[in-house]
Amino acid sequence: MIVHKIHLPHSKNSAESETVTLPLPSRAVISTAQHLGAVCTPTVKVGDKVKIGDVIADSTAVMSAPVHSGISGTVVAFTDVLHISGRNMPSIVIENDGKNEVSESVQPPVINGREDFLAAVRRSGSIGLGGAGFPTSMKLGFDPKEKHPDKLIINGAECEPYITSDYRCFIEEGEKVLDGAELIMKYLDIADCIIGIEDNKPKAIAKMKALCADRPNITVFPLKSSYPQGAEKTLIYSTTGRVVKEGTLPLSCGCIVINSSTCAFISDYIKTGMPLVTRRITVDGNIVKKPSNFIAAVGMSIGEIVKYAELTEEPDRIILGGPMMGACAFDPDYPLSKTNNAVLLFGHSPIYHPTACIRCGKCVRACSMGLMPTALETAFDMRDAKKLADLNVNLCVNCGACSYVCPAKRNLAEKNQLAKAFLREQTNKGV
Ligand code: SF4
Ligand code: SF4
Repeated sequence: MIVHKIHLPHSKNSAESETVTLPLPSRAVISTAQHLGAVCTPTVKVGDKVKIGDVIADSTAVMSAPVHSGISGTVVAFTDVLHISGRNMPSIVIENDGKNEVSESVQPPVINGREDFLAAVRRSGSIGLGGAGFPTSMKLGFDPKEKHPDKLIINGAECEPYITSDYRCFIEEGEKVLDGAELIMKYLDIADCIIGIEDNKPKAIAKMKALCADRPNITVFPLKSSYPQGAEKTLIYSTTGRVVKEGTLPLSCGCIVINSSTCAFISDYIKTGMPLVTRRITVDGNIVKKPSNFIAAVGMSIGEIVKYAELTEEPDRIILGGPMMGACAFDPDYPLSKTNNAVLLFGHSPIYHPTACIRCGKCVRACSMGLMPTALETAFDMRDAKKLADLNVNLCVNCGACSYVCPAKRNLAEKNQLAKAFLREQTNKGV
């Protein structure tokens, strides 16, 4: 296992700002595609009244999670929102009636065992809140007869610059993170838990260590602060020394990785029955006067959220997520989704023009997966599917480290995304 990592400026300007819960928006635009996997089908129609916590879209696909309303009001339209991926996402528009009525369905779930717990996690609409958006019920729904994990790993690395939403979760809701982890361990019969937190977050480490003092089966593991420490395979290797082989899931080496904020949400849901209708989001960047963390309703406009952090000027770049793995938003009114852990706003952003590769090898030394980004780029430019497969392009975790270190400013990570899609297409065609 190659363990190359890079060092980034942390720029965690919002780390010491207590999270502020924002008022509910007058209108929510809620995408029916909030996770990896199947897009949900609306279960409401125009004119329907909904309350906070009501299911508004769902799917029968295994790889899915239901979508709920975070406001009470009336469904006024269905619309397509152009997603940052370039795809149109069907979305449900709800006008707030100002009554803030909570659905009768919001009741703490009755749990008598593993199946009840997994069903409750699915009903909660839980997905990976670290940004990946993997449906939690699917991640936890392994077949214990086939492979039983012995380690639950809580991902609190938060290795991207600027983002502090998981950090604030540890500081403000560390008890819930622990409670969520213990629920997963109890119902899925997992013996040990490791909470991985980068060592540039000493307060979070101290808090979690104090909370775990009398829990011998839960260890707080201070991770060396480097990038991409929070990538699932890297985290597993850093905390256990185990290697997730290409084409396999963490379960194959006895591990399940869950984001820390997702754990806290599971704890909340089991106690209250309130599904995933809000999330914590970091707002930061060089034109943000008050770098902050907010809890906002899913579907609220990002433009509305950032006003609370006060901008000093109009942004020329808006990034949803971190600067390494996030994507530029072209519309400031893009609605908040379950996966948005940060919005970064910049002015006077530099524009880089790629130049020829100077064969310095920095991208190869930066890659935590031991890939050769420059060779992958050439293979993709030649549309050579066999070469891409031989070079293990599918191991790329899209961390962006190769692009970051490249002195020629080549768009290596972006090319790898395209290369993976190209290889998938060719494989499906049987080429
Ligand atoms: S984006 Fe892919 S190729 Fe580039 S450093 Fe990350 S894992 Fe390696
Ligand atoms: S870092 Fe950039 S310039 Fe250096 S070998 Fe890689 S692609 Fe070429």
